[in-house]
This record gives sequence, C-alpha cells and structure tokens, in this order.
Amino acid sequence: MTLQEDCYDTLDIQRHIRRRWHQERDTLIARSYWTDAQKKEYVLQHLAGVVDYAFNQIPFYHEYYKASGYETGALRSLADFESIPTLDKNILRSVQTKDFIPRSLAAEAPEMFWSSTSGSSGVALSILSDLDSVSDNSLTYYRMFQRLSGPAFSADRWIYNIHHIRSWVSSMSGDYPTFTLNDIADVEQFVLHMELLRPVILNILPSYLPVMEPYARRIAQLQLKAIITNSEASSRHEREHYSSIYQTPVLDEYSSEEIGIIALECPYRHYHPEFDFAHVELKDLSRTGSSALATVYCTDFMCRTMPFIRYDHGDIVSVAGNDSSLCKCGKHGRTIERVEGRKDDCLQTTGNHYVPAAAVTNALDSFFNADPNVSSFRLIQRATLIDFVFMYTGADTEQISPSLRAFLVQLQTLLKMPVQLKIERVAALPDTSSYKRKKIISEARKNG
Ligand SMILES: [Zn+2]
Repeated sequence: MTLQEDCYDTLDIQRHIRRRWHQERDTLIARSYWTDAQKKEYVLQHLAGVVDYAFNQIPFYHEYYKASGYETGALRSLADFESIPTLDKNILRSVQTKDFIPRSLAAEAPEMFWSSTSGSSGVALSILSDLDSVSDNSLTYYRMFQRLSGPAFSADRWIYNIHHIRSWVSSMSGDYPTFTLNDIADVEQFVLHMELLRPVILNILPSYLPVMEPYARRIAQLQLKAIITNSEASSRHEREHYSSIYQTPVLDEYSSEEIGIIALECPYRHYHPEFDFAHVELKDLSRTGSSALATVYCTDFMCRTMPFIRYDHGDIVSVAGNDSSLCKCGKHGRTIERVEGRKDDCLQTTGNHYVPAAAVTNALDSFFNADPNVSSFRLIQRATLIDFVFMYTGADTEQISPSLRAFLVQLQTLLKMPVQLKIERVAALPDTSSYKRKKIISEARKNG
C-alpha cells in the first residue's frame, strides 16, 4: 500500500518545511492565543481570498457559486461567507477531477500530489495537494507537538506514531524525526523500542490505549509530554483514565484527511478549533440547557490547489461557550466538548477485545477501493459479533466473490476469530442519519 505522504516526503520538501518552521514557529504559537477580534479579522481576509480564488480559478466552484449569484469581491463579512452554498462528499463525487483543478495549474505538474482518502466514509475521494498545502499541514502538527512539549520539543527528540498514515514528514531533513508503525504486533517489542528512542510525543489510535496497559509503569517512566489520539472515538472518561495510568495527558485530535487538524483537546478537556489554517463553523442544530449540538463546516482557506470551502464532513459535535469565552489554557472562543459523530469505530470480538476499525478499513480498502466492480461499500458487524454483512453497490455478487473470500481470510486474522460474512448488494448504501457515513459499523453493544 502506498502511503499518502510518500509522494511528498522528500528531502527538498523536508528542507522547505524546516526553513518555514524556524521562521514561523514563534508566530504560529503566538497566534494560537489570539482574541476573537484578532481571529475574525484574520479569518475574514483569508476567506474572502480563497472564495474569490476558487470562483475565478476552479471551474467547479465557478459554476457552483455562479448558480447562487456570487460575484468576485462579494464577500465582505462572515455573514456573507455563511450565505454561500456548503459542500459535501456526495457533491464532490459528482465533479470531474479536471473541474477541480485550478486553471493556472497543469494537472500533471510535478509539484502536485494526489492522494485518496481512505477514511471512514466508504466513498474514496481524491485530494490534490501542493507544496504549500503539504507544508502548512505539517506545520500545524509540529505546532501541536511544540505546544504540548514546550522546551522538550528539540530537534533531536523523536515523535512516535502508530497509524496507517502520517500527516506530516518523517523528519525535517533529520531534525524532529518521526518513527511510524502501522500496527503494534508485539507490545513488548514496541515498549522496548520506545525505551530506546525515548520519544517526546506518542500518536496513537485510542484502541491501543488498553493494549499498552500491562506496560503502564514502563510507559510512565518514558515521561512522554503527551499521548495524542486520533481517528477513532474515545471518551473523555477513557482519556482521563489513561492519562492517570500513563502519567501524561492523553489528548484527542479531531482531524480529517480532507482538512487536516480541525480542533485539539487542551489539558482542560475542551477542543479548540485551529483557526489559522482552516475556518471551522459550528452550526447549531439544537440546544437543551447549556449543551448544544452542532454540525461542522470546514474551510481550508490557505489551500490553493483543491480548497474545501464550507465542507460538511457529516460529523455532529457538542459545543460550549461563545466567541468571548477564555479557557484556562489561554485560548479564546467557542469550544467543541465532544465529537459525537465517530461512534462505533471499533470492532468487538467474542474474546472481548477491540480491534481498531482503521486496521479493518485498511484491509477493506486494499481489496475494494480500486475494484471496478464495487462502487461503494460498507461492512457491518451485527450484535452477535461473529455475523458480518458486506453491503455494496456495483456489479454482480459473483464477480466480487473471489475478493470477498480473500478479504474474509484477512478479517478473521485481524479479529482472531471465525466470522460469518453475508453479502448484500444494494441500489444505494442507506444513509446513516445522525452519524458520519461509514465504511464500518459495529452494532456490538459496547461494555461501559
Ligand atoms: Zn483550553
């Protein structure tokens, strides 16, 4: 499997990011603590820039916005911005790639990087990046590591990452190196390796938190500055529990492959949107007492290759506070309290273990993402735990049977239990109304 970042993780790009990191680090950190008024001025200017750019340069946006009466220069306030149409993956799927490429760029230009979302939606989406979007995204990650680690984040310290993707470079030409593992095959070996590298930060899927528990004492002795979780649901309770076990803050990162980091949980347990590369709109859905639910629209306003503007991931979040709120961590503005839209992100086994959906998604993708006979798919684990349904749209079942048989073998290896796999060909995948559309749904009743 080609890693998304392999296409841009070159020495030249690492050097470029290193140069930017040294020039921009202090500004990036200072900006995190801006007031609402400072943020609004900055954001409005950039939003106006990206919308005009998209309208004039990208054929898809030109047609899409023209239909709603948009004209260049029309965006003068945040209210203007919020009146332009939103975007979602279904709309994007109907757009031809060539209509998403800016007129000023050649599609095959060497400085363009194509990647495909392998995320949770069951519908692959190609994403075009360039040097700026790749380095902006990397810098938001290095800023996160810097903020969490303080002076301990020095050029010789390792970042340890366990995930099937990495959203930044493997090092800045040797400085700030990252070691990436796709999976923990042997916990003892993994802990020994961490003891050797003594990383400053550990990035991990939350499913691995309990897996490391027998080694809690040794992990605590590593004196990690933080453990950052991402991609899957974890509860605040769970993260607080493991913060005390591993004696370091276990904090969640809310991100997507399309946008990058959307918001980060601070040590006071509020998620703060990272406002200076992407604009995060929290649109109220309902309010009961002090808690409110909101949908999330994101705009990556620094991007000029394939900007996502008012992009709806399909996530639901709980929100709190208002524009003038000040958190104990020093950050201003409304906060996300919980990401509600990523439930059932783990598969459960009859042995009462949890298997990260990302590992199974990986296997699913390797068989079906590029299969011309399958246009969309979803794997459902029934409450019995051993019964699975492969639901898909596409060609006759006969044509996909060989791939499914091979996938079944891999699924059973991943789950370490026998599994019954039923095939269901449908005209369209049913919508999941309140939660993000998913490739994997587990109907297993969760303990606790
Ligand atoms: Zn905070």
